[in-house]
Amino acid sequence: MEEQKQFRCLRCGNCCRWPGCVRISGAEADAIAAYLGVPVGEFLDRYTALMPDRQGLTLIEQVSGSCIFLEECEPPACRIDPVKPSQCRRFPEHWNFPGWEKECAGGAALSKGETEK
Ligand code: SF4
Ligand code: SF4
Repeated sequence: MEEQKQFRCLRCGNCCRWPGCVRISGAEADAIAAYLGVPVGEFLDRYTALMPDRQGLTLIEQVSGSCIFLEECEPPACRIDPVKPSQCRRFPEHWNFPGWEKECAGGAALSKGETEK
């Protein structure tokens, strides 16, 4: 779609503050553990939980509901950015949550026609 081609992330961090699951695959767990320099078992114990549907793993959240790997600096940053899960890399074009356009600064700019090419 034309609209989606023009989407630009404005680094507001709200997709990482969304209090929902961030599903990770086994290969992603291996890659994140290696990036953090910890054994995969330690990574799984410290940073993941079973999905509510019990069909996989999700990253855990901070008390605020933000992803455990969101760093609240300016602009907000992902501590595992080079190896972040596919769900994160595919936001918002291929994966998103209800009402994302209002939460996402890039989506809001797009709907107001403020996003440049
Ligand atoms: S892994 Fe990184 S990009 Fe994904 S939700 Fe967490 S902080 Fe955001
Ligand atoms: S919510 Fe949208 S603009 Fe904000 S960091 Fe995520 S993708 Fe970028």
